[in-house]
Amino acid sequence: MGKKIIVAGLGHGGIAAAALIAKAGFDVTVYEQKSEGTLGYDWTDIFAPGALKIAGMDMPPADKFEYKEDMTFFGPSMTKGLRQHVPEEKLEIKMERRDIYEHFINHALECGVKIVYDCKVEAPIILGNRVVGIKTSQGDVYGDMVIDSCGMNSPVRRNLPESFGIEKEVGRKEKISIYRAFYNIAEDVEVEAKFKVLLFAGGKLGISWIASESTHTDLLIGRFDDFDMEEVEGFSDFLRETNPRLGKEVLRGGHFVEIPVRQPLSILVADGYAAIGDSAFMTVPLIGSGIANSLKAARILADTVINDKNGQFTAETLWKYQMGYYKELGAGLAPLACGKLLLLSLTPEEVDYVFEKGIMTEDMMTIGADFTGLANVNIDPRALINQAKQVCGDPELLKKIVTCGVSMGKAMAACAMMPKKWNEKRVRSWAKVYEFVFK
Ligand SMILES: Cc1cc2nc3c(=O)[nH]c(=O)nc-3n(C[C@H](O)[C@H](O)[C@H](O)COP(=O)(O)OP(=O)(O)OC[C@H]3O[C@@H](n4cnc5c(N)ncnc54)[C@H](O)[C@@H]3O)c2cc1C
Repeated sequence: MGKKIIVAGLGHGGIAAAALIAKAGFDVTVYEQKSEGTLGYDWTDIFAPGALKIAGMDMPPADKFEYKEDMTFFGPSMTKGLRQHVPEEKLEIKMERRDIYEHFINHALECGVKIVYDCKVEAPIILGNRVVGIKTSQGDVYGDMVIDSCGMNSPVRRNLPESFGIEKEVGRKEKISIYRAFYNIAEDVEVEAKFKVLLFAGGKLGISWIASESTHTDLLIGRFDDFDMEEVEGFSDFLRETNPRLGKEVLRGGHFVEIPVRQPLSILVADGYAAIGDSAFMTVPLIGSGIANSLKAARILADTVINDKNGQFTAETLWKYQMGYYKELGAGLAPLACGKLLLLSLTPEEVDYVFEKGIMTEDMMTIGADFTGLANVNIDPRALINQAKQVCGDPELLKKIVTCGVSMGKAMAACAMMPKKWNEKRVRSWAKVYEFVFK
C-alpha cells in the first residue's frame, strides 16, 4: 500500500476512481488546471443515479436533483415524434453540473484524495516504455501510475509515444460541437413534448434539443462541423417558428463545447498508464452522455489497481481494467458508434423516411445515459437489417442500413475477439482490426 497514484485532470471518472483507490489506502493526488470552485458548466446534466452506488457514492441531497422527462425524437420534417419510455426504476436525474462536481469532490476528499488546483498538466513523463509521471505548470510529478482523466483532448494521451499504439487524435466526425444556453420563456404556451430532440432540423447535419422548463427553455445545438454565433442565431430563429416558448434572452450558459461521440479508445492502458472518461471516449456515441459510464469504469479501474498486489501497474496487470471495461460497457458502446456513422451518411429525407416507416422505433429511442449495450435499446443488427428489408422501398437507404447492420456485427465480433491477456503484438493487431471497423 501507499503506492503513489497520479490522476491527471479532475474528470468525473478520474475523481471517482481516485476516491475508491484512496479509500483503499493509496496515496492519490489529482492535478486540475482550473481553480477550486470553478469546475463545470452553467447548466444541468442528466445521468443515471444507479452509477453513483457502483462508484461507492451516496445519492446527492434530494433538493439538488430532479428526475428527467422522457425525450421525444423528431426527424427533419418534425411530423412524427418517437417518445422514449424509460421505466421508473431507470429514470435519470437532472442536476446542476457544479453540484455534481461538488458531490464528487466532497466524497473524494472524505476518502483521502488530495487535489492540486491551478495546475496544468502538459505531458506524460516517459522512462523507457513506462509512464512514470506528468509534466505540469507547477513542475514535474512522479508516481507509480498515472490515471488520465483530462478529457477528450488530454495532453497525456496525445503525447504518449507512438510505440504505445494508443490513438491520439479525434476525427472531426468523431466529436460533436455543442452550443448550449438557457433562454427566457417568450410565450408561456403548453407544449406537447417537453423535451424534444431534433435530428437534422432545418436540414443541418446535427442533433439539437429544446427542453421546456418551468423557468426557461433549454436549447442545445449539436453539429458535426464547426459553427458560430451567426449560425446559432439563424438556427434558433428557425426553431422559434415552431417553438414559440423559446425566447431571445440568454439567461445562462451560451457557449460552445465539444463532446466525443465515437467508439471507445481501442487500448486504454500502457505500463504505468490508464485512460478513463472522455480521454478514453467512454461517452454513449450519438447522445454524448458520459457521466454514468465514467463512474462504472471508475469502479473497474479502481478494483484493478487495488488488486494489483505487487503494485506493478503494467499494461499486463492493467489489462484487467481493459477487459472488464469492454465486457461491461465498451462492447455495447462500440456498435452504437456504427449507428452514428449511419446517421452521418443519411440525407434529411432519408432520416424522415426512417421515422415515417417505423425503421426507428420508440424502443430504439430509449437510449439513456445508462446505456450499456444494444440489448438495452432492443437493437439486434440482424433484426434491424430484416426490418429494413421489409419496409424500405429505397435501395440506396437500404444499402446504408444493411452496411450499418454489418458494421455493428463486426464491431461486436471485434470486441469479442479482444485478447484475454496482454500480449503487446496481439493487442496491437487486435486494435488495428477494431479501429478499422469504424473507418
Ligand atoms: C455540453 C455538454 C453536455 C453534456 N451533457 C451530459 C449529460 O447530460 N450527461 C452525461 O452523462 N454526460 C454529459 N456530457 C459528457 C460528460 O460531461 C463527460 O462525458 C463526462 O463528464 C466524462 O468526461 P470527463 O469528466 O472524463 O472529461 P471532462 O469533462 O472533459 O473533464 C476533464 C477534466 O480535466 C481537466 N483538464 C483538461 N485538460 C487539463 C490539463 N491539461 N491539465 C489539468 N487539467 C485538465 C478539465 O479542466 C476537466 O476538469 C456533456 C458534455 C458536454 C461538453
